[in-house]
Amino acid sequence: MMVVMATCYRAKRPWGITIEKKGRHCEFQWAFPLAQDKAKREGFDRNSFSGEVQFAGEYPGCPYCGSVGFFQCGKCNAVTCLPEDAGSKVTCPACGTTLTLETGRDFDFKGGGY
Ligand SMILES: [Zn+2]
Ligand SMILES: [Zn+2]
Repeated sequence: MMVVMATCYRAKRPWGITIEKKGRHCEFQWAFPLAQDKAKREGFDRNSFSGEVQFAGEYPGCPYCGSVGFFQCGKCNAVTCLPEDAGSKVTCPACGTTLTLETGRDFDFKGGGY
């Protein structure tokens, strides 16, 4: 199990995703709000995963807006929830880059044991 930090697209607040690696893919299992300073202190960067993502049946989505989808910035690798009405272009809240969403790409997460 690892925890990856994410940001809510609308609320711009941090949250965490617990991820279980399952061979070639990983599974998003749970999401919970994070205090920004706590996330930094715990240094969620000791673990990593590259590959496809699936969602566990109980995965609740972003704790602030409830969105189940997400995207990852191609520049800074930040993970952000994806509102259903976001369209095909989004702006990364971490670095301000405008991204065109791609489907079917592999993801590259860095997180820590929890
Ligand atoms: Zn959200
Ligand atoms: Zn970014």
